[in-house]
Amino acid sequence: MARANISIFIPHMGCPHTCSFCNQHTISRTEKAPSPKKVEEIIAGAYGYMSEERRRDAEIAFFGGSFTAIDRDYMTALLEKASEFIGEKGFRGIRISTRPDCIDEEILMLLKKYGVTAIELGAQSMSDKVLEMNERGHTPQDVINAAALIRSYGFELGLQMMVGLYGSTEPDEYRTMREFIKINPDTARIYPVCVLKGTKLARLYEDGAYQLYPFEKAVNICGVIYCAFESAGIRVIRMGLHAEDKVEENAVAGFYHPAFAEVVRSDIVKNRVLKYYMSEMSPEDREKQINIEANKALIGAVYGHKRSNITFFGSVGMNVRISENNSLAPDEISINKDVQNVLKIT
Ligand code: SF4
Repeated sequence: MARANISIFIPHMGCPHTCSFCNQHTISRTEKAPSPKKVEEIIAGAYGYMSEERRRDAEIAFFGGSFTAIDRDYMTALLEKASEFIGEKGFRGIRISTRPDCIDEEILMLLKKYGVTAIELGAQSMSDKVLEMNERGHTPQDVINAAALIRSYGFELGLQMMVGLYGSTEPDEYRTMREFIKINPDTARIYPVCVLKGTKLARLYEDGAYQLYPFEKAVNICGVIYCAFESAGIRVIRMGLHAEDKVEENAVAGFYHPAFAEVVRSDIVKNRVLKYYMSEMSPEDREKQINIEANKALIGAVYGHKRSNITFFGSVGMNVRISENNSLAPDEISINKDVQNVLKIT
């Protein structure tokens, strides 16, 4: 589960790239870079309304751009302000995101000095071809090198990937998944592509040169990757873009959904139940009522987003009864008392 972050968005500043999918002014909350004073106000505001207990588990997170590539004086001014609010009685640390080729020993020492605890790398894909086609300007090896360096300095490591990029195929998505598992980050974010106005992807899409997977396929791929990461002990802290106000109005295509993670989790549960129904149950038992139990953390996914699983089970003739059982783990369901871990790939 994601921690309660104090998110501060730093727009495109300092980034010399134009990745195919990126329109930082669209996905950031604000188009203007916040001043250090503004940052101080945001953090002080959050500090004031959060209890000490909640603060202890929350991080100050600088997102939205390539944090380590922004103007150095501006970056250190932001970190100075943030560092005043961490430690005893304050927030648990500072989280930043950046590009793999904007990491070196010097910057890591600086981040350490100001109390940064977690670094997320926008890897996006571990395929040379896909990175090139999407003009990322770095290679998979850059991701591997940066990840190793970040780890050697004792930071928590996060990796971010995108699903459905221009030129990416299903095997490419799973290659990225496998490479991430080899790197073994602490956390991962899975972002299905959202095609934003004014980007290269939008032009390619409008020209017909870029075709997206059907939505259900993207959901399915994200579900496989989510289960694989969680099974490997990699905490998935986000699936799908945040419901920022401008994403929906600026999206021309893609997989934006305000509850994308819930849709994926529902799909995972549906597939697990269906697999059990087809392969573990006798034809006689399939005719009877099927009792599914789940922890309250998972019960929504059993019903499905907007009860989609209930509709599905009914449409294939399954007589399903769902109830809450909090003695089960948050990733378990029981089907007729047979406990199944839904995140484990079997
Ligand atoms: S490196 Fe990051 S900020 Fe720069 S264009 Fe690419 S996605 Fe946008």
